[in-house]
Amino acid sequence: MRFEYSPAPESRAIVTLRDSYGLFIGGSFVPGSSVFKTISPASEEVLAEVTHAGPEDVDRAVAAARQAYERTWSAMPGRERGKYLFRIARLIQERSRELAVLETIDNGKPIRESRDVDVPLAAAHFFYHAGWADKLGYAGFGPSPRPLGVVGQVIPWNFPLLMLAWKVAPALACGNTVVLKPAETTPLTALLFAEICQQADLPPGVVNIVTGDGATGQALVAHPGIDKIAFTGSTEVGKEIARACAVSGKRLTLELGGKAANVVFDDAPVDQAVEGIVNGIFFNQGHVCCAGSRLLVQESVYDEVLAALRRRMGTLRLGDPLDKNTDVGAINSRAQLDKISELVSSGEAEGASRWSAPCPLPDRGFWFAPTVFTEVSQAHRIAREEIFGPVLSVLTFRTPAEAVEKANNTPYGLSAGVWTEKGSLILWMASRLRAGVVWANTFNRFDPSSPFGGYKESGFGREGGRHGLEAYLDVTGSADV
Ligand code: NDP
Repeated sequence: MRFEYSPAPESRAIVTLRDSYGLFIGGSFVPGSSVFKTISPASEEVLAEVTHAGPEDVDRAVAAARQAYERTWSAMPGRERGKYLFRIARLIQERSRELAVLETIDNGKPIRESRDVDVPLAAAHFFYHAGWADKLGYAGFGPSPRPLGVVGQVIPWNFPLLMLAWKVAPALACGNTVVLKPAETTPLTALLFAEICQQADLPPGVVNIVTGDGATGQALVAHPGIDKIAFTGSTEVGKEIARACAVSGKRLTLELGGKAANVVFDDAPVDQAVEGIVNGIFFNQGHVCCAGSRLLVQESVYDEVLAALRRRMGTLRLGDPLDKNTDVGAINSRAQLDKISELVSSGEAEGASRWSAPCPLPDRGFWFAPTVFTEVSQAHRIAREEIFGPVLSVLTFRTPAEAVEKANNTPYGLSAGVWTEKGSLILWMASRLRAGVVWANTFNRFDPSSPFGGYKESGFGREGGRHGLEAYLDVTGSADV
C-alpha cells in the first residue's frame, strides 16, 4: 500500500531575516570589508547579504577575544561561566523553532531533522558543558587545569548550528574565548546565535563570529594571536591547516572526512538493518562526515537486504525541506551537487551498477535522488572517496575477517556500523574496526557525553565527553591525564 501525504509546510513567519548582517565582534554587529549573498539551496532565492571578513576584520575579532579572555572570561569562576552556558542552552531551547526554520532555509535540510536533531543536540551540548564549567578540577586533568586562550574555530555547512555548539560550548566551559568562522553557504544560524549571546548578556568578545569564505578561514588559522585551532571539514583543507599550524606552536584538533562501513551480518534483523542503512546514508542528504556510505552485506543475505533497501528507498519523500513529511532535502550548494554528480558518473564509467529512487526532482534548487550502487569493487572511486551526498556503495563479504579487512581498507577512520544479533561478534568487530565510533545495531547516534573523532585521515582529537574537554585545556604537567 502506498500512502499519499498532504503538504504539511512549517511556517517561515517565525524567522525575521535582515537584509544584511554584519560581523559579530566584541559583542556588537559591525560592518566589514565587503559583502556576499547567502541563498536557499531549495529555491535559489537570495536570503540575505552577509559580510565577508577580511584579514583586518579577523584581526579585530582576535583582539576582542584576547581582551575578553584576559579581562573577564579566564578569570571568572567556573560556576559563573556555567551560568552563562546554561542561559545560552535555555535560549536555544526557547528559540528552537526559529533556529530550526532558519537552519532549514539556509542549509536545505528537512525541517524534521533540524527540529528533532540539530537544534535539540545543540542545546544539549551547552547544557552538558555548562555542567562541566565548575568541575574541571575533577575531570582527571589535575586540580586546576588552565584554559588555552583564544581559540579559532572553522566549521562546515552540513550541521551549521550543531557544529558551532560542538566547538563553542566546550571552549567556553574551559575558560577560552572564541573567534568562529561559519561556512560561506550557511552563516545565518551562527548569526542568530550571536543574537542569543547578546540576549544572554555574555560578556563582549567572549564569542566573535566572522563570516566569509575559505580566505577568511585561512586568515584566522594564520593569525598569530590564536592559541588553538579547531577545524571540521574536508581532509584536503584539514591537511592545509595542519601544515599552517605545524610551525606556529598552535594547538590543533581536526575532524575531517570519512568513508564509513556499515556492516550487515546474515543474522541481523533485516527491516531494522535497512532502517539503519537508510538513516546512515540518506540522513541530511548524506552530508555527514560519519555517513555509512559503504554498505558491506554478508553474501548469503545480499539479495534479501538489497530488495528491502530498494523498497524502502522508494518510499523516501524528496522535496520542500520545510515540509514536515520530507525525508530528503536539498543538496547544500551547486558546487556540492556538481561534486556528487561527477563521482556518480565515475561510478557508472568504472562499471558499477546504479539505481536511483524514482522520485521527481523539483525544477529549482539543487537536488539529487537517493542512489545505490551495486557491483562495486574496492578500487572504484565511489568506494574510496567521500561523496558527501545521498549515494551508497554496496560491497559484499563472506566472513567476519573479510568484513574487517574491507571496512578498514580506507584512508579514513571516523565511524562504522555493525548489524548482528550476536553480542560477541559486535565486540569482536568493534575491537578490530579502525574507527573512532562504532555503532552496534544503530547508526548516527550522537550524545554530548560521548567522545567523537577519527583515526588516520579522519583527523585527531575528540569532541564531546571528558575527552573533548582535554582539547580546550592546558593539561601539560598534569600527572593524572
Ligand atoms: P571545506 O573543508 O573547504 O570547508 C570547511 C570550512 O573550512 C568552511 O568554513 C570553509 O570556508 C573553510 N575553509 C576552506 N578553505 C580553508 C582554508 N584554506 N583555511 C581555512 N579554512 C578554510 O569543505 P567544503 O565546504 O569546500 O566541501 C568540500 C568537500 O569537503 C565536500 O564535498 C565534502 O566531501 C567534504 N566535507 C567534509 C566535511 C566533514 O565534516 N567531513 C564537512 C564539509 C565538507 P567556506 O565555506 O567559505 O569555503
